[in-house]
Amino acid sequence: FQERKVMMKKISIAIDGPSAAGKSSIAKIVAKKLGYVYIDTGAMYRCVGYYCLQNNIDLNNETAVSAILKNIKITMDSNNRVYLNEHDVSDQIRQDEVSMSASLVSSYQDVREFLVKQQRKMSNVGGVILDGRDIGTVVLPDAKLKIYQNASVETRAKRRFLENKKRGLSADLETIKKDIEQRDYQDMNRKISPLKKADDAIVLDTSNLSIDEVVNEVLKLAKQREMEG
Ligand code: C5P
Repeated sequence: FQERKVMMKKISIAIDGPSAAGKSSIAKIVAKKLGYVYIDTGAMYRCVGYYCLQNNIDLNNETAVSAILKNIKITMDSNNRVYLNEHDVSDQIRQDEVSMSASLVSSYQDVREFLVKQQRKMSNVGGVILDGRDIGTVVLPDAKLKIYQNASVETRAKRRFLENKKRGLSADLETIKKDIEQRDYQDMNRKISPLKKADDAIVLDTSNLSIDEVVNEVLKLAKQREMEG
């Protein structure tokens, strides 16, 4: 009798999709269950946007935005707190104004190069899950599992509305919906690394699914891929 060993290999998981599709909620839980590192790439674009707002940098001036990148150091800890130059900005970067600034600066080539380089380096640890807009297409094109997580704009706006309320942030459903639609439009239509489904990504429409159901689906797929090595 020979013991049959199943070889499990930690993989990289990419989750892309439009704003407020619940990518980070899912990614956080899946990372914990698999013992993986979670990297919130949207938070990094938010840090750049937030820095510009704080320092009165004209967001429409690409050269000015490029020039401040050298002053930006972003780190994350295992509790998913986000630090900009050693300051915890986890809550501040969730404001609607920062979402819009992030979307604006994310269309600039220098900003993307600066952040993508760091994201690839951070992913070099084995067993990572990244969420964003260009993970499966640009940051980790060889990721063993790629998910494109979507939901109707109504569902996404409602979820964000409830989330904002819980965080004590101002919330108006119609404004949130408009913001989400505008950000989707910008992210899908920019020249560099626009949001799009990677050819080999699996589409998960979460409009009618609970968080548990989505998590279970992603876990099932991840375990299959881990077995395949
Ligand atoms: O995911 P989140 O909503 O936090 O992202 C904020 C913004 O950052 C997005 O609207 C998008 O413009 C940008 N982003 C990006 N590429 C990523 C992650 C986020 O362009 N990988």
